[in-house]
Amino acid sequence: MTRIDGIETLIVDVPTIRPHVLSMATMHRQTIVVVRLRCSDGVVGIGEGTTIGGLSYGEECPEGIKLAIDTYIAPVLRASDPTRVAATMAQIGKAVVGNHFAKAAVETALLDAMGKRLGLPVSELLGGRHRDTLPVAWTLASGNTAKDIDEAERMLSLRRHNIFKLKIGKRPVADDVAHVAEIKRALGDRASVRVDVNQAWDEAAASRGIAMLEDAGVDLIEQPVARGNRSALARLAARFIVPIMADESLHGPEDAFAIASQAAADVFAVKIAQSGGLQAAARVGAIADAAGIGLYGGTMLEGGIGTIASAHLFATFPRLDWGTELFGPLLLTEEILTEPLAYGEFSLQVPNKPGLGIELDEDRIAFFRRDGR
Ligand SMILES: [Mg+2]
Repeated sequence: MTRIDGIETLIVDVPTIRPHVLSMATMHRQTIVVVRLRCSDGVVGIGEGTTIGGLSYGEECPEGIKLAIDTYIAPVLRASDPTRVAATMAQIGKAVVGNHFAKAAVETALLDAMGKRLGLPVSELLGGRHRDTLPVAWTLASGNTAKDIDEAERMLSLRRHNIFKLKIGKRPVADDVAHVAEIKRALGDRASVRVDVNQAWDEAAASRGIAMLEDAGVDLIEQPVARGNRSALARLAARFIVPIMADESLHGPEDAFAIASQAAADVFAVKIAQSGGLQAAARVGAIADAAGIGLYGGTMLEGGIGTIASAHLFATFPRLDWGTELFGPLLLTEEILTEPLAYGEFSLQVPNKPGLGIELDEDRIAFFRRDGR
């Protein structure tokens, strides 16, 4: 039987190109937990667990992901056969409740190893890809209207992004709407402008805000209210024509089913980490498909590993009407892969090599790892 001989988790801190302003945190760096599994057949798989703003966005943080894997998931991995990915993940599910980000990181490493072992890209292990490139949105989150317009114009002229997501919810509703409307006016039909409120509004503020954003020509409203307020989300989705997208409300297939049953969203932002792994995220996608809910490939602002793992899954969705936001690596000042991911023509290329199809730059990882070893 094939075994896992080595389980390594590293915390890596990488600076961001600019402060990234969200309703709940301002990020100056991104912290990535790199997982490396060495198997007895010589195959090595890599995975990534990354959160947004430490513990400010969700229940898991990089330090906690490392601890969960080292202390609780590693013993299960040591007793398992890494060539049986689904069975191994089921064993982990029995031993560890929640901890979706840690599970996603480990599952990514198992799938990377399995793909390398079989000579197949991860997308093929997940059922097969429908496309080789994915549209990629960019988030304008400097907090300054003029700067955001400049940034959007630069992205359009580079042909890197023509979908822009604006992070709002930190300022009064009227100020946020004025900011968004000015950006949409400047970009016109050359770009799709969307907003992410990150749960910052109550239902009354959302009703006012969305009405004005709809008038301003915004295409999509992401998570306007608290993640647990599913009925408010459903009322907003019923009331407005502009689609409402669930993100923080969506922590795996059970939430997906509940939201679909209540018609509480028009679009799902699927995230591999938030869903609890690639297979769980695939089930979220399948529920959306069955319910006629649109799909958008979300990000936890992962670095290259988590981003390309997400890309492999999103490439398998039969319909991906809202594109993706897999721009995480572009937010970092430093490359941690030997070969950067291929962005261009408003898209990200999904690699065709075995496994994830990427390789870590060990020198860069050694330089940025927090423990400095
Ligand atoms: Mg979001």
